[in-house]
Amino acid sequence: MINVAIDGPAGAGKSTIAKAAAKALGFIYVDTGALYRAIALNAVRNNITDDKDKIVSMLKDTEVKLGFSEDGTQCVYLNGEDVSGLIRTPEISMGASKVSAIPEVRAFLLDLQRNIAKENNVIMDGRDIASVVLPDAQCKIFLFASPECRAERRYKELVEKGESVMYEDVLADVNQRDYQDSHREIAPLKPTEESVMADTSKLNLEESIDLIINIIKEKM
Ligand code: C5P
Repeated sequence: MINVAIDGPAGAGKSTIAKAAAKALGFIYVDTGALYRAIALNAVRNNITDDKDKIVSMLKDTEVKLGFSEDGTQCVYLNGEDVSGLIRTPEISMGASKVSAIPEVRAFLLDLQRNIAKENNVIMDGRDIASVVLPDAQCKIFLFASPECRAERRYKELVEKGESVMYEDVLADVNQRDYQDSHREIAPLKPTEESVMADTSKLNLEESIDLIINIIKEKM
């Protein structure tokens, strides 16, 4: 099986770019952030987001699964319920960032991720895919863009949705998530020695997708 690991900070366009590249190559695209988001949703529902011990014991009664439809769309199931739509809120983003710092949560999700990669050609996106989940991946990419650039893109998206936000606040959020994700003790966000660095700051979406496809083809 061919395994491609794509890691990088929030807002670098990883999911859009990885999804398009997977489609072009006929691979399954796996968004691992959805797994942490499903755990966060369960913690929010149980009102225990700030209680690490309770989150860890909640795992005994938690079943998380991924499903893929014919067109490659990923669904995430929490105890049998399709929660794919419910996990895309700012509250769950923050919750996911919190639960993902708990070692037991990361261990709980490890086999699930590895098993999918064992059985399929995948492009898997996350923070620790190259370093921890798929250390033997044939291709490792670290996809990033400057914080200002990522904040600018996010700001435009929010304004288009009709939300009134300040660019400075969006930039502060980007910087805070970067800091949290790269300074945690377990599986911090950072490129491995083998990672190919892909900077999309000056590229549009099509150019970014082409860059990733070319990097993957070179490694295959
Ligand atoms: O990628 P996404 O923004 O959906 O991820 C939500 C959060 O889950 C991230 O901020 C990060 O803290 C965590 N995460 C992680 N490891 C992964 C994927 C996501 O720690 N492989």
